[in-house]
Amino acid sequence: MDSAHDWQGVVISAGVKLTTTHMPKFPYPCKLYPSLNQCAYCGSTKKLSTEHIIPFGFGGRLILPNASCEFHRIATSRVEDFILRKYLCALRSHLSLPSRNPKGRPEGYPLILRRDGRSWEMNVSLADHPGLVRFVMLDPAGRPSGRPRKPETYSFRLIDIYIFPDIAKRLARLGADSFEDAVVIKALDLARWLAKIGHCFAVAELGIDALEEMYVTHLIDYEAIDGETASDEVRDWNYWVGGYDRGRDIKAHELHELRFLRRGDDLSVIVHLLVPYCPRYAYEVIVGRLRAEVEIPLELDEGMMAYNSVQIAE
Ligand SMILES: [Zn+2]
Repeated sequence: MDSAHDWQGVVISAGVKLTTTHMPKFPYPCKLYPSLNQCAYCGSTKKLSTEHIIPFGFGGRLILPNASCEFHRIATSRVEDFILRKYLCALRSHLSLPSRNPKGRPEGYPLILRRDGRSWEMNVSLADHPGLVRFVMLDPAGRPSGRPRKPETYSFRLIDIYIFPDIAKRLARLGADSFEDAVVIKALDLARWLAKIGHCFAVAELGIDALEEMYVTHLIDYEAIDGETASDEVRDWNYWVGGYDRGRDIKAHELHELRFLRRGDDLSVIVHLLVPYCPRYAYEVIVGRLRAEVEIPLELDEGMMAYNSVQIAE
């Protein structure tokens, strides 16, 4: 069996043996693309390293060799580090996603537990973790609605992902009936991470010349977007990156799914993470203006969608 498909996670902690064999098994998306031989973000040909379109630690085997310069390698790994180790840490452990540093997994996960109007903090082991993960869903991207670019005014909501079907029992064992996951969310980092996945996937699948104009490469560069001198327009990441409702529950074939969506001349990548656990809600990254002659592979085509022609009153 391909180790990438090994989902049979068995978690052992404090003498409690918890099998997770009831979890359905979903393969990771896997593909080795031909070497790009230039940085996917800036075109540099110096000191190139391999890009994992979805990080290795999140169950990604979409590999684009020689595709990131040193500057962009550091920029993307900084944001990935935050996402994987802070935001998605418990989830990754529950799903037995690979880790380059398994010993670095935390001893416990901080939770705020509640019962009868009382709440308390507790550090729980992985085996005791109720297996609910709050997934951050961003507002839809601004561009399709025709809104102007403006200073950052994003909002988001949380979608609950249940890893185990017996969450109530798990909470009762901890003496609680509900809980909060103490997750720190940096929406900008999440958006940057998604921008990287979307941009890199478009370049890998369609070639670096497929885009006449690239829209989100500035989001990858920390200083460009987060620096003091960044303009309001540049800071408005939610213009390009947002939540996307696929309109129905998608039948999961793989753990993550990436698709192309065309909006006029614009090309979006629908980044649908953890499809089996969050079957309807995904993200959209508007990656650039697509050259007219470029064809989208049929199996990756989510279709065509018109921009809402909202007129903005002067
Ligand atoms: Zn670069």
